[in-house]
Amino acid sequence: MNKRNQFQLLIILGIFTLFSMGCVEETESGGSYCEGAVSPYSLPDNYISQTAKDAIFAAPNWYRNVGDENVPVVVVPFEFPQVFPVNPGLTKEYIRSVYFGENNGSLNDYFRENSRGRFEMLEGYIADPVTMDFDTAFYNNGAPTGGFIDNPVLHQELMEKVGEQGLDWSIFDTNNNFLLTNTEVQVVFIPSIGGLGAARPGNFDIQPSNANSPISISMQFVFADAKRSDETTIEPIAYNFFTHAHELCHGLFGLPDRYANGTCGTGAGARYDLMSNNCESMEMNPVDKMWLGWLSPKIIGTESMRPNPGRYCYLFENDYPDRKGAAILYDENAPDQFWMIENRNRSSSMFGFDGQIPKEGLVIWNVNLDTKHVNLVGAENYDGLLTYEGYGESAEAAYADTSGGDDIPAMLLYPLPINSVTSPSFELRNVSPAGREMTCEF
Ligand SMILES: [Zn+2]
Repeated sequence: MNKRNQFQLLIILGIFTLFSMGCVEETESGGSYCEGAVSPYSLPDNYISQTAKDAIFAAPNWYRNVGDENVPVVVVPFEFPQVFPVNPGLTKEYIRSVYFGENNGSLNDYFRENSRGRFEMLEGYIADPVTMDFDTAFYNNGAPTGGFIDNPVLHQELMEKVGEQGLDWSIFDTNNNFLLTNTEVQVVFIPSIGGLGAARPGNFDIQPSNANSPISISMQFVFADAKRSDETTIEPIAYNFFTHAHELCHGLFGLPDRYANGTCGTGAGARYDLMSNNCESMEMNPVDKMWLGWLSPKIIGTESMRPNPGRYCYLFENDYPDRKGAAILYDENAPDQFWMIENRNRSSSMFGFDGQIPKEGLVIWNVNLDTKHVNLVGAENYDGLLTYEGYGESAEAAYADTSGGDDIPAMLLYPLPINSVTSPSFELRNVSPAGREMTCEF
């Protein structure tokens, strides 16, 4: 074959490839799914400006321990002697297994899966149960607002009593500035009250037992409950596992709540985000994962922005542990926001960590780059306009073909808020049924 014929063949192959990528075929079930799907991870996104990329990928400045930063965690079971004695199941071995275990469904496994192996829970210290000198009434008295968990006197006594057990807190002061923060150590207090979870700030000084100088404390403490001592169970933390994970996200990473009215499964993340749902088995949302440096999705521009403008068929793989089933959607005419799309599937976790999402499929988020608000988009309305901030209902916000044969409506993504805009930035159609591999054309 001479050079000229080779060239002609390449042109023909190229046209065929372009055509087949956007081609739609009728499937046996009658639903039409796109063909020749390409993973966004294999596509260049160098046509997206560096300015846009910087704005999208930069974590909000209140996020912490971004990337590969692993922080030692100190776990302290404690009791109020009369009203809430410690649950006898809170042994060191049990706490070590739930917090730092490997491949047993521990909190360590939870964060290792969400971070694709980037974040691990480091065992800093597991204390013997601490007995407070007084009961809750004493610490409620004089507490700033919410009762004893808000009382710095309680925080300080807990830390000092752990020091009396032999822990020299100054070992965590890695930058030797006599100030402990959440980027150096995360402290978790576990009372046996049976229903509580909270992250609370504490600012005070302590005198470490083995150091000459006092150390200042300025950190978010995690409080997360075990079952009461009279509730017989061999696993006193298991029932509250996702509350422990949720509160750790506040403490370790500075993540915000996304509840509406403090109710589980409501609000901006509904039942697809641990920060709005600590009551069910739930992963963190993909935007948080990206901002923490755990996901590096490619960016897909609108049809007209693409080097070869037009519609394409995209593949979203929920392929544990790589988890390449996510992408950013970006419209240069709406540069104050972006969308993120992720294939969510209950089978994605070895331990069922995403086991209670209400519906599997492509889950879409709208992110406001000015406020950094992350909002689940209501796929069941197909116009992309319903977001969950402020809504009370839980969501089945996943886009997938559940019609059993009939075409389902295209899903339109309009920039938010709607004002004079008349055309959507993206029009998703021909979505496949839910599965570990999903395809969708836009
Ligand atoms: Zn919270």
